[in-house]
Amino acid sequence: MSDCLFCKIIAGDIPSNKVYEDDLCYAFNDIAPQAPVHFLVIPKAHIASVAGVNEENSAVVAHIFEVIAKLTKEKGIESYRVVSNIGEQAGQSVPHLHFHVLAGRDMTWPPG
Ligand code: 5GP
Ligand code: ZN
Repeated sequence: MSDCLFCKIIAGDIPSNKVYEDDLCYAFNDIAPQAPVHFLVIPKAHIASVAGVNEENSAVVAHIFEVIAKLTKEKGIESYRVVSNIGEQAGQSVPHLHFHVLAGRDMTWPPG
Protein backbone atom coordinates (compact mmCIF):
# COMPACT_ATOMS: atom_id res chain seq x y z
CA MET A 1 0.00 0.00 0.00
CA SER A 2 1.52 3.29 -1.12
CA ASP A 3 0.56 5.32 1.96
CA CYS A 4 1.60 2.69 4.52
CA LEU A 5 4.63 3.50 6.69
CA PHE A 6 5.83 -0.11 6.93
CA CYS A 7 5.32 -0.73 3.19
CA LYS A 8 7.57 2.30 2.66
CA ILE A 9 10.18 0.82 5.02
CA ILE A 10 10.07 -2.49 3.08
CA ALA A 11 10.49 -0.58 -0.19
CA GLY A 12 13.48 1.30 1.26
CA ASP A 13 11.74 4.66 0.86
CA ILE A 14 12.07 5.20 4.62
CA PRO A 15 15.35 4.08 6.23
CA SER A 16 15.36 1.38 8.90
CA ASN A 17 17.85 -0.64 10.89
CA LYS A 18 17.44 -4.07 9.25
CA VAL A 19 17.72 -7.19 11.39
CA TYR A 20 16.68 -9.78 8.75
CA GLU A 21 15.01 -10.01 5.36
CA ASP A 22 13.76 -12.74 3.05
CA ASP A 23 11.17 -13.05 0.27
CA LEU A 24 8.25 -13.03 2.69
CA CYS A 25 9.18 -10.88 5.64
CA TYR A 26 11.31 -8.03 6.93
CA ALA A 27 12.66 -7.48 10.47
CA PHE A 28 14.02 -4.19 11.80
CA ASN A 29 14.75 -2.48 15.08
CA ASP A 30 11.95 -0.46 16.62
CA ILE A 31 12.64 3.27 16.45
CA ALA A 32 11.49 3.68 20.07
CA PRO A 33 12.68 0.52 21.84
CA GLN A 34 10.78 -0.53 24.96
CA ALA A 35 13.39 -3.14 25.94
CA PRO A 36 17.15 -3.70 25.34
CA VAL A 37 16.18 -5.89 22.37
CA HIS A 38 13.11 -4.65 20.50
CA PHE A 39 12.61 -5.45 16.86
CA LEU A 40 9.57 -5.81 14.63
CA VAL A 41 8.88 -8.57 12.12
CA ILE A 42 6.44 -7.74 9.33
CA PRO A 43 5.13 -9.53 6.23
CA LYS A 44 6.21 -7.96 2.94
CA ALA A 45 2.64 -8.27 1.70
CA HIS A 46 0.41 -5.65 3.29
CA ILE A 47 -1.94 -7.12 5.91
CA ALA A 48 -3.59 -4.58 8.23
CA SER A 49 -3.30 -6.60 11.46
CA VAL A 50 -3.91 -10.08 12.90
CA ALA A 51 -7.58 -9.35 12.16
CA GLY A 52 -6.70 -9.39 8.45
CA VAL A 53 -5.18 -12.91 8.54
CA ASN A 54 -7.18 -15.46 6.54
CA GLU A 55 -6.86 -18.78 4.69
CA GLU A 56 -5.13 -17.10 1.75
CA ASN A 57 -2.41 -15.23 3.63
CA SER A 58 -1.88 -17.09 6.93
CA ALA A 59 1.22 -19.05 5.80
CA VAL A 60 3.32 -15.91 6.26
CA VAL A 61 2.40 -15.83 9.95
CA ALA A 62 3.86 -19.31 10.50
CA HIS A 63 6.90 -18.23 8.53
CA ILE A 64 7.32 -15.12 10.69
CA PHE A 65 7.27 -17.27 13.85
CA GLU A 66 9.94 -19.55 12.33
CA VAL A 67 12.03 -16.44 11.64
CA ILE A 68 11.50 -15.16 15.20
CA ALA A 69 12.65 -18.53 16.61
CA LYS A 70 15.71 -18.51 14.34
CA LEU A 71 16.73 -14.90 15.00
CA THR A 72 16.38 -15.14 18.78
CA LYS A 73 18.35 -18.43 18.84
CA GLU A 74 21.11 -16.81 16.77
CA LYS A 75 21.23 -13.91 19.23
CA GLY A 76 21.34 -16.30 22.22
CA ILE A 77 18.00 -14.99 23.49
CA GLU A 78 16.15 -17.72 25.40
CA SER A 79 13.36 -15.67 26.97
CA TYR A 80 11.38 -13.04 25.15
CA ARG A 81 7.92 -11.67 24.41
CA VAL A 82 6.11 -11.55 21.08
CA VAL A 83 3.35 -8.92 20.97
CA SER A 84 0.93 -7.85 18.27
CA ASN A 85 -1.57 -5.07 18.90
CA ILE A 86 -4.83 -5.13 16.98
CA GLY A 87 -6.74 -1.88 16.66
CA GLU A 88 -6.10 1.60 18.02
CA GLN A 89 -7.66 0.87 21.41
CA ALA A 90 -5.12 -1.93 21.92
CA GLY A 91 -2.26 0.40 20.97
CA GLN A 92 -1.83 -0.39 17.27
CA SER A 93 -0.36 2.76 15.74
CA VAL A 94 0.76 1.38 12.35
CA PRO A 95 -1.90 -0.47 10.33
CA HIS A 96 0.48 -3.07 8.81
CA LEU A 97 0.72 -6.41 10.64
CA HIS A 98 3.77 -6.45 12.91
CA PHE A 99 5.07 -8.64 15.68
CA HIS A 100 7.12 -6.92 18.38
CA VAL A 101 9.97 -9.07 19.74
CA LEU A 102 11.10 -7.82 23.14
CA ALA A 103 13.93 -9.17 25.28
CA GLY A 104 16.23 -8.04 28.02
CA ARG A 105 15.81 -6.74 31.53
CA ASP A 106 12.64 -4.76 30.89
CA MET A 107 10.08 -6.62 28.79
CA THR A 108 7.17 -4.61 30.16
CA TRP A 109 4.37 -4.13 27.66
CA PRO A 110 2.68 -1.77 27.25
CA PRO A 111 5.22 0.74 28.58
CA GLY A 112 4.23 2.28 31.92
P1 5GP B 1 2.21 -0.52 17.43
O1 5GP B 1 2.09 0.71 18.30
O2 5GP B 1 1.41 -0.36 16.16
O3 5GP B 1 1.94 -1.81 18.13
O4 5GP B 1 3.72 -0.62 17.02
C1 5GP B 1 4.29 0.23 16.06
C2 5GP B 1 5.75 0.34 16.39
O5 5GP B 1 6.40 0.89 15.28
C3 5GP B 1 6.04 1.24 17.59
O6 5GP B 1 6.73 0.49 18.58
C4 5GP B 1 6.92 2.34 17.00
O7 5GP B 1 7.97 2.74 17.85
C5 5GP B 1 7.43 1.72 15.72
N1 5GP B 1 7.67 2.68 14.66
C6 5GP B 1 6.84 3.69 14.25
N2 5GP B 1 7.38 4.37 13.23
C7 5GP B 1 8.59 3.78 12.98
C8 5GP B 1 9.63 4.04 12.03
O8 5GP B 1 9.56 4.94 11.20
N3 5GP B 1 10.72 3.22 12.08
C9 5GP B 1 10.83 2.21 13.00
N4 5GP B 1 11.94 1.47 12.97
N5 5GP B 1 9.86 1.93 13.89
C10 5GP B 1 8.77 2.71 13.89
ZN1 ZN C 1 1.76 -1.83 4.56
